[in-house]
Amino acid sequence: MQGCIVAVGAHAADVEFMCGATLLKHAVNGWDVHIIHMTLGEKGHPELSPCEYGAQKREEAEKAARLLKAVVHFMPFKDGELYVGDEPATELAKLIRRLRPNVVLTHWRMSIHEDHIATHRIVHRAIFMASNPHFEIDGLKASPYPRLYYAENWEDAEGFVPFVYVDITDVFSEWEKAFKSYAIGRGEAGFPYWDWYLATARLRGIEISVMYAQAFAVEIHRMRRVAQLL
Ligand SMILES: [Zn+2]
Repeated sequence: MQGCIVAVGAHAADVEFMCGATLLKHAVNGWDVHIIHMTLGEKGHPELSPCEYGAQKREEAEKAARLLKAVVHFMPFKDGELYVGDEPATELAKLIRRLRPNVVLTHWRMSIHEDHIATHRIVHRAIFMASNPHFEIDGLKASPYPRLYYAENWEDAEGFVPFVYVDITDVFSEWEKAFKSYAIGRGEAGFPYWDWYLATARLRGIEISVMYAQAFAVEIHRMRRVAQLL
């Protein structure tokens, strides 16, 4: 195994839309890939009940994960009710200690959706707890601090500055299939998700002279470089 990459999204579909191609690229390069959905996004349908739509989203997520060669994990939290606290952080820290990822991907810190902001903060808290040996979490050994990247999401645009780019051209068509495992990915909810993510992948590709790319933000302290001379 080359390494382990874990992506954490607020709602089923967030991870696949914002960084699914990057995950698949890691899988085909021998990495162990895990997708964690904090909620199913079950309150997102105008007619179906949360129970009905949650069941549909779970099936869609399982299909998408198979296509992306990833293991999918569902956390027990409710759409629109995610909060920053030690209960969700401890649940996530347990998984992080078991999986021991080298890389974690999640939402950028700013968003128009409260669940996305909460997920960003829960991920930070969970990584801190998982990596500090003085937190007792189910007898699990502390895990190394992973490299953390923030994926690009149409709802998390405020202040997002792309820094690291991944060329996804060779996995693009498989990513599109996984994306369209979801009804919302096929445009059935009215919002043109695919058009936005397709256009963004092309734009990021143009910026690095390839066909398609996904871009990630990092904390400012991770951009520091030391030079003896400029
Ligand atoms: Zn979302």
